[in-house]
Amino acid sequence: MKIDFLGTSHGVPSKERYCQSVLFTARGNGYLIDAGAPVMDLLIRRSYDLEKLKAVFITHMHTDHTDGLFRLLSLADWYYKKMSYDLYLPEQKGIDCIMEVMKYHDPAFAADRLRFHRMQEGLVFENDDIRVSAFPTGHIGFVRPAYGYLLESEGKRVYLSGDLDAERVDYPEFLDEEETDVLIVECAHFPAARLLERLKTCKAKRVMVIHAGPDDELEKLRKAAGDFPFPLLLPNDGDCFDV
Ligand SMILES: [Zn+2]
Ligand SMILES: [Zn+2]
Repeated sequence: MKIDFLGTSHGVPSKERYCQSVLFTARGNGYLIDAGAPVMDLLIRRSYDLEKLKAVFITHMHTDHTDGLFRLLSLADWYYKKMSYDLYLPEQKGIDCIMEVMKYHDPAFAADRLRFHRMQEGLVFENDDIRVSAFPTGHIGFVRPAYGYLLESEGKRVYLSGDLDAERVDYPEFLDEEETDVLIVECAHFPAARLLERLKTCKAKRVMVIHAGPDDELEKLRKAAGDFPFPLLLPNDGDCFDV
């Protein structure tokens, strides 16, 4: 599996960072989690074979995770007509809103190629490349759904936390019990110290912190990086890792 960080910022982009968007490659095909960055523009800029994008998973409907969806859908609808992918959104209201915008632009929107699904807890997607499972988080106080995702491919496991509950840093407890190759975790809704405490029992082989800030909290993460048995990394936009 390969991890491409297209956008690593939290709710506010910076001069160096777009909002959150991470592209995974499994057996040569693309699986995107979140679209807070201008995903379509970035993929075109890097001459990405757009037909390889097979599915998009959104952690929750906040705009720093969804803004890039509109061009990703719209251009796939009317211009890149060989694109075909499944899009998983966490709530029906989100599906209805986005579909309304798409149909405003194109009443004949290609829903057969660009297939909307409502996310549910548990196994949500499985093909020869990858298995994707969703785990609820309390990010919006369970008033509206938010998820983290476990991706499994060719014996490797990566977990992306999504946005978490500010008090509990509530990524799932199995990350303390079973080995995972990579944990990608946010650190914007709680102080770095709270995440560092939570990570003490983590059994991931590598931890990558994105959606983090402000800068002084990032600095605390950098300083603590040597205290763990695993590498604690702070990826930037454009960074790419093999798993
Ligand atoms: Zn966010
Ligand atoms: Zn959020």
